[in-house]
Amino acid sequence: MPRGRFSRFPVYIDPVTGVPMKHCHLCGEDKPLTQFTMRPEGPPASRCKACIAKVKREELRAMTPAERRLHYRHRSQMKKQKRARRAMEARYADA
Ligand SMILES: [Zn+2]
Repeated sequence: MPRGRFSRFPVYIDPVTGVPMKHCHLCGEDKPLTQFTMRPEGPPASRCKACIAKVKREELRAMTPAERRLHYRHRSQMKKQKRARRAMEARYADA
């Protein structure tokens, strides 16, 4: 395994299946790279998607009802903003 920028997040090819694999730091399992969130730059996430979803779920459960309401309101606002930005971009792309 070459050591370098990604040595802390080793990705290796499974010799049997030929699938790129990666070790999840949270559940400790080796999973296909497709089970990890890829970032446009830098190494993939160190935790698999299942673990991230689990952590998020537990965070949500630990919230009080008021906090949860705030969380959802914030999330829907972010979605709205994203949609508006995309619509604006599309309009400028046409012109
Ligand atoms: Zn995991």
